Amino acid sequence: MLERFVPTEAIERLSQIDLDALRARGVKTLLLDLDNTITPWRSLEVPEDMGAWLQAAKQSFRVCIVSNTSKMKRLETLKERLGIEGVGFASKPWGLKRVAAQMGLAPDETVVIGDQLITDVAGGNMIGARSILVKPVSRDEFFGTKFVRAAEAVIFWLLKRRGLFACPWR
Ligand SMILES: [Mg+2]
Repeated sequence: MLERFVPTEAIERLSQIDLDALRARGVKTLLLDLDNTITPWRSLEVPEDMGAWLQAAKQSFRVCIVSNTSKMKRLETLKERLGIEGVGFASKPWGLKRVAAQMGLAPDETVVIGDQLITDVAGGNMIGARSILVKPVSRDEFFGTKFVRAAEAVIFWLLKRRGLFACPWR
């Protein structure tokens, strides 16, 4: 039950993720959360290191933003600016199954990366992909996310207590 929330890896910042190591493991597709993973919440500003990492990632992987956002105009702007695919209204975690099926992804060649255990990590694990947890890039978030964070804090605590996962930045 709790195992579904354990990330394959926890890496503080998206731009610190070693692309060569992923390639060496046979990874072909990166599914990236948007808010607080690539940019601060609601922001159109992509930090320089994130932008550079994304451009490098595009050289070797299929890269797609998968976000629960309803702000499609912002998503479209970022997709265009970054030159990558993107899916909004994704309904993670469950919606990742649909997205993976529509994209025709092989789970063992896919990595899901995001800042939340309940949506990103659980979703990645659910489809049998690797999951990488990153630290939220800012503390601002959607009102509803604050409730999810409260539940998430309990999960972090339980995972640590059971010896399943100790998050390095908490
Ligand atoms: Mg997020």
